[in-house]
This record gives sequence, C-alpha cells and structure tokens, in this order.
Amino acid sequence: MPNVRKLALTYILLLVLGLTLLVPASKQTESQGENSIEVTGYTWDHSTISVSIFPRENKSWWKPSYLNATLHGLAQWNDAIQEFAANHTEFSYLSGIRLVPTINHENVSGFDIYIGWIEECGNESTIGQSRATIKSQCVMRNNTVCLAAKAPSGHVMTEVDMQNIVVHELGHTLGLYHCSYSGDVLYSIVDYRAAVKQISSLDLYALSQTFEWMTNSTQFTSSSTCPQESNVTLPSSISYIHFTIAAENLPASTQNLIEYTIELFQCPEILVSIVVAVTLLAVLVILFKRRKKP
Ligand SMILES: [Zn+2]
Repeated sequence: MPNVRKLALTYILLLVLGLTLLVPASKQTESQGENSIEVTGYTWDHSTISVSIFPRENKSWWKPSYLNATLHGLAQWNDAIQEFAANHTEFSYLSGIRLVPTINHENVSGFDIYIGWIEECGNESTIGQSRATIKSQCVMRNNTVCLAAKAPSGHVMTEVDMQNIVVHELGHTLGLYHCSYSGDVLYSIVDYRAAVKQISSLDLYALSQTFEWMTNSTQFTSSSTCPQESNVTLPSSISYIHFTIAAENLPASTQNLIEYTIELFQCPEILVSIVVAVTLLAVLVILFKRRKKP
C-alpha cells in the first residue's frame, strides 16, 4: 500500500511544518503583566509630521549606515501605526499619522522634527536625546533629536544600535516617554543588541492617547482636548504584541540565516516543538520499517 504510506508521510510532514510555523506565531504574544508606559502630555496639532535628517557625511566618525538606520526606524513607526490602526477600528484615526523624512545637507528650518548627530554626548551616559519646544498648552512647535555616534563607554554605535536609538527617540517626539518593560523599544535603557527591537501594541496604544484629539478632527483646534500626562497600561481587549518589521527595514548586515537560526533555537517553545516533531517522525519511520518485514 505505497499510496497510503505516501499520504500518511505527507500528513505528518504537514503537521510538523504546521507545528513549527504555529509556535513562532504564538511567541509574538507576551504576557501583558503590568507593563506600562508614560505619556508626556504633549502632542502635535497636525498629523503629517515632517522630519529633517541632517547626516554628517564630512565627519570622520560618520557611518553611512546611520542614515539607513534612521530611515528604517522612521518606516518602522509608520508601518506599526498603520497596522495598529487597521487592527483596531476604534483607533483607526491613527492611520492619518505619518512621519515624512527629508534628507538635508545643511541646517534648515520649517520642519517638525530635526534629527542630527554628534560624535559623543559630553555628559552622563546619554546616547540620544529629544528636546521639544512647546507653542501652546500641550502642542509641540518642534522637536530636536540629537544622536551620538559613540557612547561615553567608548562603544561605537552599529547600524542596529542606531536604529534602536532612533525608534526610541522618535517615540519621545510622538509624545511618549518610557516603558516599564525591558523588551520594549521605549524602555529607559537602550542596550546594545544583535537585533533591532520591534514596536509594541503598548507603544501604539499610548500613541492613541496622545493623538486622541484626532477622533474629532484632523487639525488640533482650541476646542481639542490635550492628552494628559499619565501612566498608560493596555486595556484587557488588547494583547501586548510586537509588530513585525518589514524585511526592507531591517539592517542589511544582521539579517543572515545563521543569526536567525540561532535566535530560533534560543527559544524553548521552538526547541520543544522540534523535539516533538523529530520524535514523531522517528516513531513513524520505525513503524513503517517493521511493517515491511515479512
Ligand atoms: Zn528615552
């Protein structure tokens, strides 16, 4: 009965494949716990936010990958905002928010956010900084982000570090402060990692609070409500998840198969599913072989 065997084997293979695909998907949902994020109480009075990026190509410490990291970090926010707005109809107003980058080769004015670099921040352990100027009660006039190419410890920022710092600082320019969870892009300490961090549903939910005035209008007016400086936790209807980063927004240098495989094997759920699948296969092979014998 070779056809039955073939069918059975195909079924098992599909099951194994299903198992390995299911586990990474379920890994995305992490325990919400008491993760919270602070909201600064500042917002923008419009939803298309212009970003000036001023690369320091003439400096010896400058790396061209810093520009890629910045554009990727920006795209990461735009993508996560769209995905969250599409998944939660009550926050569909967020889909109007867009960060629009322009690369400038000199100091210019007229932008909302200015991203620039220095070799090293002189004080403390700072590697990135965002400074807002306010034009009325809670509305930002502009926000200046200063990024360091080198930490006070001497660590030189890689493309991955830079993208993580950009995503973190952009969160501040959008009215978010720090998150209590170390796995979140807005955790107060930016550590040096092998991979880029993903934006979470908590970050986006906090953004929905910052831009709540957009439920009534596309322009902040005198009758719009200011966001409240507060500590935000996710409502029970929203799980803490991370938004997958589009392949084109990942640093080219880190996305090789070996690193991805190592990361997969570091996850216990995946290891268990592989062991279960291999055991199942072994048992079946033995069973088939025994039946073959006269
Ligand atoms: Zn910060």
